[in-house]
Amino acid sequence: MSGAHQPGPGQLGADPRADVAIVGLGAMGALSAWRLASRGARVIGFERFRPGHDRGSSHGDTRIFRTAYFESPEYVPLLQRAHQLWRQLEQETGAELLTMTGGLAIGPADGELVSGVLRSARENQLPHRLFDPSEMNRLHPQHRLEPGDVAVRDEEAGFLRPERAVAAAAARAEALGARLMTDTEVTAIKAADGGVIIETSRGRFAAGRALVAAGAWTSKLLPQLGLPLEVERQVMAWLSVDDPDSFSPQRFPVFIRELAGGRFRYGFPTTDGRSIKLAVHHEGTGADPDSIDREVEDADLLPLREFAREKLRGVTGEVVDARVCMYTNTPDERFLATSPIGLPGVTVLSACSGHGFKFASVLGELMADWILDARALPAIIRTA
Ligand SMILES: Cc1cc2nc3c(=O)[nH]c(=O)nc-3n(C[C@H](O)[C@H](O)[C@H](O)COP(=O)(O)OP(=O)(O)OC[C@H]3O[C@@H](n4cnc5c(N)ncnc54)[C@H](O)[C@@H]3O)c2cc1C
Repeated sequence: MSGAHQPGPGQLGADPRADVAIVGLGAMGALSAWRLASRGARVIGFERFRPGHDRGSSHGDTRIFRTAYFESPEYVPLLQRAHQLWRQLEQETGAELLTMTGGLAIGPADGELVSGVLRSARENQLPHRLFDPSEMNRLHPQHRLEPGDVAVRDEEAGFLRPERAVAAAAARAEALGARLMTDTEVTAIKAADGGVIIETSRGRFAAGRALVAAGAWTSKLLPQLGLPLEVERQVMAWLSVDDPDSFSPQRFPVFIRELAGGRFRYGFPTTDGRSIKLAVHHEGTGADPDSIDREVEDADLLPLREFAREKLRGVTGEVVDARVCMYTNTPDERFLATSPIGLPGVTVLSACSGHGFKFASVLGELMADWILDARALPAIIRTA
């Protein structure tokens, strides 16, 4: 990836104008770069850090992939396509990105999680199994169920490796001809000459269109758009386990658990042979991506230690690692892809609300189809 010998401030790059400039090469930007370059578009991409970095929303070793989507059955066709594209990226790069473990949704039978998973699975004929507490005790004794709890196993679930996936997509986009500039901050995006001008810390660049995939920084970069985005601080922690074998990907599926009051916790099998990653979904504080508190405090770990003690067996209170990450939330947690009237030639993609990573491959494809062919987006994606 290029980081030096770029045109100085005020100059335009000497290369022929790119078809699409991508601002931000995190999950959404890197996967879009791959799909756009695969379609033959001339792509230039800008990233203030380096693909796979730990300052945004796409770090922390693992991300859940699931198909029986409790949020809405409308996501299921997108997830099935996302799965194919993750496998395609693996084939094109040789990187191992997606491990299927099955996924457990645990909670009250009439809760949002279990009823939503069952609805998605039944409407889309997805392979799944419903377990009562005694079956769970036999099959997955690592979980302590409460009276009234059940579990649904989504067979088409597992986990992605986010840093590796972003780096693989960026590398593949470059191999297909994309020009990706790292350590390059975009400072402004302007409409000009029937296209766009991207002003960066390494000079000005022209392109036909721009795709802004700046994650938690989107509203800071384009404050004039007044986008409905809120950044939320989130903590992930790795807690050591007594018997790592019983938490291996073969024996311990990824899981989400709904607690009283509609609160959610989730976790992963071990990837380091000694600990499992646990996290709280939402319940974080508002944050500015440039000044977010990246130190993990005891108070951050309290709900995870409590969860491990009360709802799991064989997980100790010893935290071996913990990291801060950011959600960028829309009000209804749907993803946002918009081409604002006030900024011609620019498309903004903000797909997080804490569940976007698994979709990055298919969203990259949808962005390519939208930008290159003006193909309409599925209704589940917000366009305003
Ligand atoms: C703790 C946590 C757990 C999650 N768990 C899951 C999960 O299990 N499953 C799931 O599907 N999803 C999950 N998500 C959501 C998922 O990770 C996000 O939806 C996804 O990572 C968002 O990708 P992004 O490209 O929008 O943001 P990012 O990956 O952060 O990319 C934005 C990029 O833009 C760059 N950038 C910003 N401004 C500029 C600028 N001015 N110039 C140049 N570059 C710029 C940034 O450096 C960054 O690299 C989780 C998120 C978090 C935080």
